[in-house]
Amino acid sequence: MAETYDAIVIGLGVMGSATLRTLAGRGLRVLGLDRHDPPHSLGSSHGRARMIREAYFEHPLYVPLVRRAYELWEALEEESGERLLYITRGLSIGPRGCEMLRGALESCRRHGIEAGHMEAPELKRAFPAIECDRETVAVLEPRAGYLLPGPCVAALLDSARREGAEIRCEEARAWRGDGAETRVETSAGEYRTHSLVLAAGAWMSSLLTDLRLPLTVERVLQLSFAPARPEACTPAALPVFVWEYEPGGFWYGFPTIDGAVKVGLHGGQPVAGPNAASREVTEADGEGARGLVRKHLPAAYGRLVEADICFYTKTPDGHFIIDRHPDHDRVVIMSACSGHGFKFAPTIGEIVADLLTGDGGAFDLRPFSLARLGR
Ligand SMILES: Cc1cc2nc3c(=O)[nH]c(=O)nc-3n(C[C@H](O)[C@H](O)[C@H](O)COP(=O)(O)OP(=O)(O)OC[C@H]3O[C@@H](n4cnc5c(N)ncnc54)[C@H](O)[C@@H]3O)c2cc1C
Repeated sequence: MAETYDAIVIGLGVMGSATLRTLAGRGLRVLGLDRHDPPHSLGSSHGRARMIREAYFEHPLYVPLVRRAYELWEALEEESGERLLYITRGLSIGPRGCEMLRGALESCRRHGIEAGHMEAPELKRAFPAIECDRETVAVLEPRAGYLLPGPCVAALLDSARREGAEIRCEEARAWRGDGAETRVETSAGEYRTHSLVLAAGAWMSSLLTDLRLPLTVERVLQLSFAPARPEACTPAALPVFVWEYEPGGFWYGFPTIDGAVKVGLHGGQPVAGPNAASREVTEADGEGARGLVRKHLPAAYGRLVEADICFYTKTPDGHFIIDRHPDHDRVVIMSACSGHGFKFAPTIGEIVADLLTGDGGAFDLRPFSLARLGR
């Protein structure tokens, strides 16, 4: 006889882990499944750091979500006794009037974020690691910083366990909904559940073949360098930054964390799916990001100490999917975080739990609906 749960969460990257914890905390009997032992480095929730920022150039609608996330990450730090969140301040950098700066300023204006404008000479004086031309300007925000991805996922899962969640290292092979009950078939057996959460990251489409979701998976590289001038790259000397280097093209970087400066291009190479992507990193892979570091962040351009692969799972409009399955009311789809979801995970966990437990949610979920994607 298959065991029965109130909820099963498939995928224990940061999104599934946060949801599992919230559901367990609300007293539900929950099971979390991942084909690898989480936290692991084979999905999208690993690496040296993830950025958190409020002056959200992507859209002002994310500001209330990230504000709630700050509260929840801080609460998790308190519960776990571990430091997960570091505030460094944040820079949005680009040519005067570019799309990213306009977006960041709009979020500041609508949500009262006290950000400062910087012209190039002032920017270079304040942050000597940065090299830029005279047409470059920046917005400096006070509350941005970074999260430690592995420790965040571990803390979420530890908290879920303390609240009674079961966690199993099994692959979910299929699920089928049948009115009040859903069955999940795994590499080890079958489970029954009242509710199901799909948080499979780049593997989402394989669990939802019926919906033919319009998702693109990109193979993304994250690089870390031992800084050439360490004193210019400390968290006090260099805020986290996002930088529009060509129209619609962004790169980002962090100060030194655990001995190295992490940088990356915001985007990668589209692949047929995560299993089709090579995990080997070649010399050619990092060329674009390397060139940007050499030119704009020479203080960080020392020995390459780490290069690994991660996945972006993107929707056509860059917004997330957080919605019920159109044919299965008790199945919630969460993910497709389009390369910027980590910071929001505890908020998204709460939103999904609200959807399943019937608690009125605080956020407008229409921008994250399947309907907007024609599903
Ligand atoms: C290089 C890089 C940099 C980024 N930088 C930032 C940043 O600075 N700030 C930010 O906010 N966001 C950032 N992001 C985005 C963020 O990291 C992701 O949005 C987030 O980690 C996605 O988490 P997830 O839980 O949806 O996916 P994942 O972490 O991939 O988790 C999905 C899990 O599902 C499991 N799984 C899949 N299929 C099955 C199955 N059938 N059965 C069992 N288990 C299964 C996988 O093993 C995996 O553990 C970045 C992403 C990348 C790749």
